[in-house]
Amino acid sequence: MDCIFCEIKSDVYENDSFIVVKDINPKAEIHFLIIPKKHIESISHLEPEDKDLMGKMMLIAQKVAKDKGIESYNLQINVGRKAGQVIDHIHMHLLSGKKLCH
Ligand code: AMP
Ligand code: ZN
Repeated sequence: MDCIFCEIKSDVYENDSFIVVKDINPKAEIHFLIIPKKHIESISHLEPEDKDLMGKMMLIAQKVAKDKGIESYNLQINVGRKAGQVIDHIHMHLLSGKKLCH
């Protein structure tokens, strides 16, 4: 399997189940990607057994935001090509800062 997010190295935070990296092409002043180590193609491919993992993903977002002193932020998951998903390994964007448009 050829998946860059299965191989990616953490530069922000890592635990047993997740890697957090800075987005290589940031769309906001702060742009992190929260990536489960388990290879799941997209939200469309989730199974009931992934329920806890997805809950933990939210808590990772909370932790990273708290650790970095980020008070307000957006969390975004793109699902499918037409919604902008280009990497077929679930990841959640954590975006914050002045470049972000609301
Ligand atoms: P998505 O469009 O939701 O699939 O998001 C993929 C994101 O991964 C984009 O924002 C890219 O800029 C980012 N990206 C791609 N390759 C890397 C990499 N090697 N390290 C960090 N971010 C990456
Ligand atoms: Zn993968």
